[in-house]
Amino acid sequence: MKRNGFKVLLCVLSAIFFTSCSGANAPVTSSASSSVSVASSEVAQKLTAASSAPTEESAPIPKEGAKLNVHYIDVGQGDSEFLELPNGQTMLIDAGNPENGSQIVTYIKNLGHNKIDYLIATHPHADHIGGMATVVNGLDIGKVYMPKASSNTKTFEDLLTAIQKKGLKINTAKAGVNILNAGALNVDVVAPVNITGDDLNQYSAVIKATFGDNKFLFTGDAGVESEKQITADVKADVLKVGHHGSKTSTSQAFLSKVNPKYAVIEVGKDNSYGHPTAAALEKLQKIGATIYRTDKDGTIIFTSDSKTITVNKKSSSIKEQAPPSSAPVAAAVAPQKTAPVEKTPEVTAPATENKSYTVYITKTGGKYHTGGCRYLKKSKIAISLSDAQSQGYEPCSVCNP
Ligand SMILES: [Zn+2]
Ligand SMILES: [Zn+2]
Repeated sequence: MKRNGFKVLLCVLSAIFFTSCSGANAPVTSSASSSVSVASSEVAQKLTAASSAPTEESAPIPKEGAKLNVHYIDVGQGDSEFLELPNGQTMLIDAGNPENGSQIVTYIKNLGHNKIDYLIATHPHADHIGGMATVVNGLDIGKVYMPKASSNTKTFEDLLTAIQKKGLKINTAKAGVNILNAGALNVDVVAPVNITGDDLNQYSAVIKATFGDNKFLFTGDAGVESEKQITADVKADVLKVGHHGSKTSTSQAFLSKVNPKYAVIEVGKDNSYGHPTAAALEKLQKIGATIYRTDKDGTIIFTSDSKTITVNKKSSSIKEQAPPSSAPVAAAVAPQKTAPVEKTPEVTAPATENKSYTVYITKTGGKYHTGGCRYLKKSKIAISLSDAQSQGYEPCSVCNP
């Protein structure tokens, strides 16, 4: 968010962490970069070793009928988006503030996942990478992507240290990088293109995820300068609005190119930045986008079957960890942009009417599931619905037991 703390430490950091850097064998000096504690030759050796290990594996292809779930997690004033990909893999883009780290780990585990196959830090600001060290420590991690931008903050150092300790390498996130290409599923980095200067927001990795006809764009805190440079096709059904709806993002030209049906603003209640701005909201309304906001809607989940997108609001932040105060609203949405949003009631019968029903829990998760739920691990434990509820388990949002 702020411009403070930016230093071009890249000669040191990129030499250590980024595999595409030509200076990978340069000796590490300790002159101007003493604030980055990870810049030791020991670390450099470890990461060089890690980066030389061939770990390329092709991603599985989505099975017939598989769905993409995109969770815009309510982390207050910050960003975090978790993708349950239709090929069974997972992706996390940003991890909120430091206090959100363990909440995000719990959220992901409750969905039945222990691994993040693709971890993306859009840029080094604390409201995006704050919780990421905890996420790296708390879950299995596949590939890590970051733009070539760094900060001398402790939060950023902690993240680098966590990555280093796990023996992971960092892949550079920049325009043209393909993260995943598996049948109808494709994830590309479309920015940063050619950013210079000291505004870290502009270095934000902008990610486009495509599943069949449906497209999702994640912009981090990218501003107008970055938006202007993007040459890739950014047309998308769902736009994660740049920089929490700040006036420095979402230029009319860019918005016209994206032309979203839905806009999601990840923003904290009564934040001191004045996000989202009236200017951003007005532009989004004018283009006809339905706006969702984490400060008003809580965590928002979009589901795509590759043709149609549905929206589900959880109405609770991960902080509260409380059941929704009212039944979640499922909105089935016709693919035409002009069609009104049809709100349909949840089809699941209220749980209280059927207390003797058998559901399944796992040793570590906090959710109960139907027997056939794909989020149920092998170690499933049968339990009556009433017991599951009285022990504090919550219904899985996927199988709706
Ligand atoms: Zn931010
Ligand atoms: Zn930022």
